[in-house]
Amino acid sequence: MIGASTRVFALLGDPVEHSLSPVIQNAALRSTALDGVYVSLRCAGEDVTGLLRGLALAGGGGNVTLPHKGVAARIIDVATDAVRQTGACNTFWLEDGRVHGDNTDVEGFRGAVSVLTGRTAEGMRVLLLGAGGAARGALAGLLADRVGEVLIWNRSAERAADLVREMGGGVAGVAPDRHGAAGEPVDLVVNATALGLRDDDPLPSDPSRLPAGSACLDLVYRPGETQWVRRARALGHPAADGGEMLVRQGAAAFKRWWGREAPLTVMRDAFESARRRAPGSEAP
Ligand code: NAP
Repeated sequence: MIGASTRVFALLGDPVEHSLSPVIQNAALRSTALDGVYVSLRCAGEDVTGLLRGLALAGGGGNVTLPHKGVAARIIDVATDAVRQTGACNTFWLEDGRVHGDNTDVEGFRGAVSVLTGRTAEGMRVLLLGAGGAARGALAGLLADRVGEVLIWNRSAERAADLVREMGGGVAGVAPDRHGAAGEPVDLVVNATALGLRDDDPLPSDPSRLPAGSACLDLVYRPGETQWVRRARALGHPAADGGEMLVRQGAAAFKRWWGREAPLTVMRDAFESARRRAPGSEAP
């Protein structure tokens, strides 16, 4: 029951109405009987500092989503390597009197790769579509797992080149095209563009032109999965959407806040049943 000692956690972003993070986190809190509550707070950029620091200093914490992850990275006291590397903070909490921040999208992405492919990205050749915030998190995860090579394609080519320069770690380069990296074998294709949320979106790449056998991980998720995932799977590619990444970034955040493992199965079940009920749901 909510009472005087209940810890308050919030998702800060704009918009936040369609986020499934409250469903996932409150299911985890109910199943563990921890004294906390998780809500969504739509807020403007100028209000992020007050809200984020206020929630943390009051003993709670939360998540940050678009468009405030960059602001959050700049106002926390202690940043993890994932925050420093990506310039984005999606999780905050109080520790030793200071406001800490992490980017658990990186851990969520690594977990989703493992679930889809049965292994880490170590030594893989990866085609990464996109160069925005999600692509930065994915690239950080791939580098942490000692990926072999990453080819980055982005609609605005100069942004892909910037990402290679800034974060490439000597293993990333700009992809020649969005389909098959010049026809050479690719272990994993990641869609980190915003394409796939809407019914009339074009596909981020044509699955029929991808190298045979490459796994396809879409970071976008929606009820009934994305068209890209359904097409790729129909052509024999192992494929998954961004649901597992969402659940795992939430589980990693739960661990930062509560100092114990998250009930992953409970969170995944809550996500799956909520997205079946909620057409139009979007990322946190
Ligand atoms: P972002 O920073 O705004 O980046 C958007 C990316 O999509 C950019 O690379 C952009 O290319 C590209 N793009 C947008 N419209 C396009 C179009 N019409 N054609 C081709 N490329 C297009 O957004 P983000 O934070 O990276 O998020 C991207 C997606 O990842 C979102 O759908 C989000 O829901 C999802 N996501 C999922 C999770 C999860 O847990 N599953 C976590 C984070 C994000 P330009 O640079 O050319 O504009």
